[in-house]
Amino acid sequence: MLSMTLQEWEEILKQWGEPKFRAKQIFDWLHKKQITEIDEMTNISKGLREKLKQNGKIACVKQVKKLVSQIDGTTKYLFEVENGLIIESVFMRYHYGNTACISTQVGCRMGCSFCASTLNGVERNLTAGEMLSQIYEMQKDTGERISSVVLMGSGEPLDNYENVLRFICLANDKNGLCLGQRHITLSTCGLVEKIYDLLEQDLQITLAVSLHAPNDAIRQKIMPIAKKYKMQEILQACKEYSDKTKRRVTLEYALIQDINDSDACAEELASKLHHMLCHVNLIPVNDVKERNYRKSSEERVQKFASLMEKKGIETTVRRKLGSDIDAACGQLRKSYHSFS
Ligand code: SAH
Repeated sequence: MLSMTLQEWEEILKQWGEPKFRAKQIFDWLHKKQITEIDEMTNISKGLREKLKQNGKIACVKQVKKLVSQIDGTTKYLFEVENGLIIESVFMRYHYGNTACISTQVGCRMGCSFCASTLNGVERNLTAGEMLSQIYEMQKDTGERISSVVLMGSGEPLDNYENVLRFICLANDKNGLCLGQRHITLSTCGLVEKIYDLLEQDLQITLAVSLHAPNDAIRQKIMPIAKKYKMQEILQACKEYSDKTKRRVTLEYALIQDINDSDACAEELASKLHHMLCHVNLIPVNDVKERNYRKSSEERVQKFASLMEKKGIETTVRRKLGSDIDAACGQLRKSYHSFS
């Protein structure tokens, strides 16, 4: 039920011989009041509530664990979705408002070698409702409004394309969360055809692409998807995205000691981004024990950033929130699975 648009509610209620305004009432309960039980819809007749129960359910996520950072208040949630599967989401406070990082799949099948979410492959796609529900439950738990959302939890959003588009449409609905598209960031490891599909949708969301390397040879060592799509194709797709939307694309670059963090890497990357409307976000990689990757030293990160800046590429180093609570990339979910 959480995945249905207002228009779909209107259609189904029409088929059931109910007045049109019922759709708005139900949508309001689900997306404004964010109830989790059908019986909480007190202005809906008992008969209609029974019919709803017979035909559907509110598949909301349930909190099973929560960790609050003592350093910056960042809160990491483990949520259970149907079939007892576990996903993770993060609530972060920035000066411009609260941001939620949500998952789009249980696990991931992209296989990036530095990422903990992908260690057991993908278990299933999340529905649009399950994506929204992560936001709703974090808002309820913190008592604070979430004003930005990044699709940077577990999963590859463009590998769950239809549900992610539906999520964007629902999150954007003024009758629901009413989240501006510009406040939604979709991060992808670079599924080129799907970036073009997204382009066709004429959305205003921010596109972030996980580049993590200055060339295909290095990229292929750490990201299997790089064997399918060349960097040049990805950058071309990014360029077309920013040309059309007039929006800056974010390029994510996780710095891994001795793999992709040399001066030469910075120079090569900068030279390829010259004519693009983009912004590079450097992320010192979070160590993944299973892989023997180490984060680049603070000094190296700063040097890399300054080389990029010197070449005229706007670069920031991601502020590290929640470092005391495993708030990174599938790591909490993984430890939950190993210890519970
Ligand atoms: N699948 C999407 C979104 C999920 S991951 C994507 O690839 O973009 C969100 C970001 O975290 C990506 O840039 C991803 O590469 C990065 N990431 C994954 N593991 C990481 C780690 N151990 N350290 C730093 N960043 C990591």
